[in-house]
Amino acid sequence: MNTLPRFDTTEVFNQSSPYENVDLYSSDLALQEAVKANGDGADAAALSAYGRQWGTAEMFAAGRRANENPPKLYTFDPKGFRRDVVEFHPAYHDLMRASVAGGLHASTWTPTGERAPPPAEVARAARYYMTAQVESGHLCPITMTRAALGALAAAPELLAKVAPKVVSTSYDPVFRPWWEKTGMTLGMGMTEKQGGTDVRANITTATLSGDYYTIFGHKWFLSAPMCDAFLVLAQAPGGLTCFFVPRFRPGGSVNALHLQRLKDKLGNRSNASSEVEFADAYALRVGDEGAGVRTIIQMVQLTRLDCALASAGFMRMALAQAVHHCRYRSVFQRHLYNQPMMRSVLSDLALEVEGAVALVMRLARAFDRAGSDPREAAYARLVTPAAKYWICKTAPSFIYEAMECLGGNGYVEESILPRLYREAPVNAIWEGSGNVMCLDVLRALRRDKEAADFFGAMATEASAWLGKETTLFEPKNEFESEATARVAVGRLATLAAAAALEATAPPAVTEAFVRTRLLRQHAALYGADDLDAYTMDALLQRSLPER
Ligand SMILES: Cc1cc2nc3c(=O)[nH]c(=O)nc-3n(C[C@H](O)[C@H](O)[C@H](O)COP(=O)(O)OP(=O)(O)OC[C@H]3O[C@@H](n4cnc5c(N)ncnc54)[C@H](O)[C@@H]3O)c2cc1C
Repeated sequence: MNTLPRFDTTEVFNQSSPYENVDLYSSDLALQEAVKANGDGADAAALSAYGRQWGTAEMFAAGRRANENPPKLYTFDPKGFRRDVVEFHPAYHDLMRASVAGGLHASTWTPTGERAPPPAEVARAARYYMTAQVESGHLCPITMTRAALGALAAAPELLAKVAPKVVSTSYDPVFRPWWEKTGMTLGMGMTEKQGGTDVRANITTATLSGDYYTIFGHKWFLSAPMCDAFLVLAQAPGGLTCFFVPRFRPGGSVNALHLQRLKDKLGNRSNASSEVEFADAYALRVGDEGAGVRTIIQMVQLTRLDCALASAGFMRMALAQAVHHCRYRSVFQRHLYNQPMMRSVLSDLALEVEGAVALVMRLARAFDRAGSDPREAAYARLVTPAAKYWICKTAPSFIYEAMECLGGNGYVEESILPRLYREAPVNAIWEGSGNVMCLDVLRALRRDKEAADFFGAMATEASAWLGKETTLFEPKNEFESEATARVAVGRLATLAAAAALEATAPPAVTEAFVRTRLLRQHAALYGADDLDAYTMDALLQRSLPER
């Protein structure tokens, strides 16, 4: 039994100890297996050291503090001069410093802006997955920074100047020109009031002015406004174009990014998301005029991977909290962990995480190999939107169920579960909302022969699993194609997860996943499946070592 401090009137007992001071890597068997299978040569000892660092009580406390003390916008100084700066709690900077030191913002790039060799993506994905379990708001600028280099490839001269600053592992939060800093971060501005999905409706304009452009207009969402520069879409004479908009002009004066206000958000509270006006802001073109979407999509594909990684991480943390608590909490003289119905809920949750982590690590492998293997590139194009759709939309209801395993304690702010619950929906909304992800899969199937072939191969694999000829998706017409896309994309994601599990997890896990999520529609609520006692034992033992 835990020896917890006494209250004046009662002794505290039958409570689990705080879930902290854990090694987030070594305590996560599914993650270790997925890294081993997908990231040949990934340094397990280094990942374990990272897992220990992020699993400390101090890091959990930093995550809590950064969210309890959200950032504040200072638009003007006391005399009415513009400032346009956001101030953060020191805990936010601590989190940023640790993530940058760990290379989450750039370890998949070389100092010249080329892709780092495998297993850079898998190793980073494992770190990102662990970090998101502790605090996710600060990962917004981290994600955008690493992704932006993908788009900056369209401006090689600029990339050559910026990349060495980006790959630096020194976090430099001081508000000064990026070229004077020891490291820099990058953000992205696409969404306007009249449209976020439909960026072609952007009305912000770009006018050529000698060797640079001036941007005039607004963005309705611009997250992490203290980034050193942003990739922004605006209408140039040749059409929608991507621009690099720094916080400072080349001469060192502050660029005209006028921050209007910060969004008051459901979650993601440690991160600042602003509304901004560009009052003839200085900008450099990235890619050709008219090629804005094509250019920035290189960035967006990478941010979508991170959304899936983060949501899988939330699910893992929620599961770990639930299993840990139930191991030590007794109800009716029996540990909750041993109550048959609770075992059913916990093992079903564990099975969902098994599928999610296997899938995201398999996807990271595809990103590692896409440059040299067209099949892996096709996998990444098709499975990234499907994985983002499935995992990000699963996370909120998953976390809710895990929260209930802790009873009232799970609902209370001091536990991490309310924060995870509030955080989860944003990953489904930004970087392409659920329906948009499904439309993306349809587009890939229509236009991309390799992706379509890959989809066909998945259907063949499904037929083998299901023991009968299976077509994943055969719409009769255009309307039906979109109207039923969620069904097809959900199946694609679970199929890809099953295939990923087959390569990493014990057969019993894959078999249970296929039986409960492919052979039939998974029950709407967790714990309402007919997992047998042997499978439940296996899943629960794998989920978390006893502490
Ligand atoms: C906290 C936060 C931070 C953000 N930070 C940034 C940022 O830094 N930079 C930035 O550019 N944006 C940012 N965004 C904006 C975000 O990317 C957009 O909100 C998102 O892309 C959706 O755009 P929208 O809000 O205009 O919704 P809409 O485009 O109006 O979409 C509304 C809904 O309709 C669905 N939909 C769209 N088209 C179709 C269709 N053809 N068929 C069926 N359904 C469809 C969508 O899936 C969505 O569910 C942020 C958003 C949030 C919440």
